[in-house]
Amino acid sequence: MKRKLALGAALSASALLAGAIQVSAGTAQAAPAPVVGQQRAALLAQAAGAAPAAARALGLGSQERLVVKDVVADADGSRHLRYERTYGGLPVLGGDLIVHQDARGAVKSVDRAISGTLALSGLSPRLSAAQAAEQAGASVRATLGAVKDADEPALVSVDRTGTAELVVWATSGSPRLAYRTTVEGMRADGTPSSQVLVTDAATGELLSSHEGVQTANAAGTGNGVFVGTVGLTTNFTGSTYELKDNTRGGQYTVTLNNKQGGSGTLYTDADNAWGTGTVASGQSAAVDAQFGAAATWDFYKNTFGRSGIRNDGVGAYSRVHYGRNYVNAFWSDSCFCMTYGDGASNTHPLTELDVAGHEMTHGVTANTAGLNYSGESGGLNEATSDILGSMVEFSANLAKDNPDYLIGELIDINGNGTPLRYMDKPSKDGRSADYWSSGVGSLDVHYSSGVANHFFYLLAEGSGAKTVNGVSYNSPTSNGATLAGIGRDKAQQVWYRALTVYMTSTTDYKAARTATLNAASDLYGSGSAEYNAVAATWTAVNVT
Ligand SMILES: [Zn+2]
Repeated sequence: MKRKLALGAALSASALLAGAIQVSAGTAQAAPAPVVGQQRAALLAQAAGAAPAAARALGLGSQERLVVKDVVADADGSRHLRYERTYGGLPVLGGDLIVHQDARGAVKSVDRAISGTLALSGLSPRLSAAQAAEQAGASVRATLGAVKDADEPALVSVDRTGTAELVVWATSGSPRLAYRTTVEGMRADGTPSSQVLVTDAATGELLSSHEGVQTANAAGTGNGVFVGTVGLTTNFTGSTYELKDNTRGGQYTVTLNNKQGGSGTLYTDADNAWGTGTVASGQSAAVDAQFGAAATWDFYKNTFGRSGIRNDGVGAYSRVHYGRNYVNAFWSDSCFCMTYGDGASNTHPLTELDVAGHEMTHGVTANTAGLNYSGESGGLNEATSDILGSMVEFSANLAKDNPDYLIGELIDINGNGTPLRYMDKPSKDGRSADYWSSGVGSLDVHYSSGVANHFFYLLAEGSGAKTVNGVSYNSPTSNGATLAGIGRDKAQQVWYRALTVYMTSTTDYKAARTATLNAASDLYGSGSAEYNAVAATWTAVNVT
């Protein structure tokens, strides 16, 4: 089924293949060596035993108790006993303290948030727990969609309000009865939210609120199907690692578990080592996808100063394990996500790096030139994805994925080891056009793209036989011209500037020639060697 042309921003999904189904390093930072096992248990037991005496020494009232929370032992035998406080059995917020002891157990000093004895008039709240929970939920719902600070994406849903728990508030002001309520929801980037609110048990006044989900960037390692062993920036929630990269727009990878839709399940992992390098582990394809997203992010950032697909700093997410035996991958503007099938027999995932770069480049095109996905503009749209997707591959320069001008050379989509497409001579796939002709716009966009792919190869590398990174090419010209090429770095700058500054939704091959000449003129000067090379290269693919 061919994709219908969608005008405007409605349905938009661009697949890798023609004839596709279209659907709408190292470990985490080491903490100071913790006191472990029996030694820690013994220290905690000692601190618990010492609690009543400590409470007396501190002058705490008869309603107050100390509950041991942690003990830190120094090499010289000094100890630091951390206690929480209760009042009438209720937790005292702000009642925590630390008793510092020397090696003989003598108290050297005490650090505490509040001093003196707590005294409350009673332990009966005026508001019920149900009333307090309702107030807390309403208070959080009132913040839906609001952005408080740049690092914290807006809350997009409130999913559950927990039971309000009676506590003593002693953090600020006069100590009083309060309720502590947890309200769970979701933030715009997919991060779960768990806000803890403290409200006055008599008046309902909001005393404090804080986000309970704390995230930290961690350095994980991945072993993908195609990328091999790579570093991944992941997110540590405090209890588990998420396959989510907050240093690159919060982009993350989910599994669809062979379903054909939905937002999937975020990958999490206990040890921050992901995948095994084979498809037997479902995480391996996820490593490829997540690394591909990172490499694409870095390519656009480092090469063009572009911050994400929309240039707004927001990362797209990736979905792997789409459907069953699905031999394709696609980009969708509506979910702002990439999706990968598992290929033939569910054992040949489509998660190769140039495919990732290809799909996300569809997003860049949608947010820039908006090239209509049919006719010659559709061929230019597909070619833009092949061109810049290949440049992502060169930019990542992986040992296990030798950079080349072949598209999908590792995924064995044809079952005989051949790539999906060839940029040096597109007709090697048996379908694509090497040169422009008046009928080229009636080809499927995955074949009319050949003219622009060929143009880009020739502009970067020149004509004739050439070996790049051990891969042999032999690129012809329609007019017999011999071209030298201006190199990948310059060629990609010309293409990107043309895409983002001069091409429109209806740009055809003739207009693409003009757009790239304008770009070359801006970058290198009209009449420069680069400008002349762009002109000569279009002529060599019969775009005049
Ligand atoms: Zn495509």
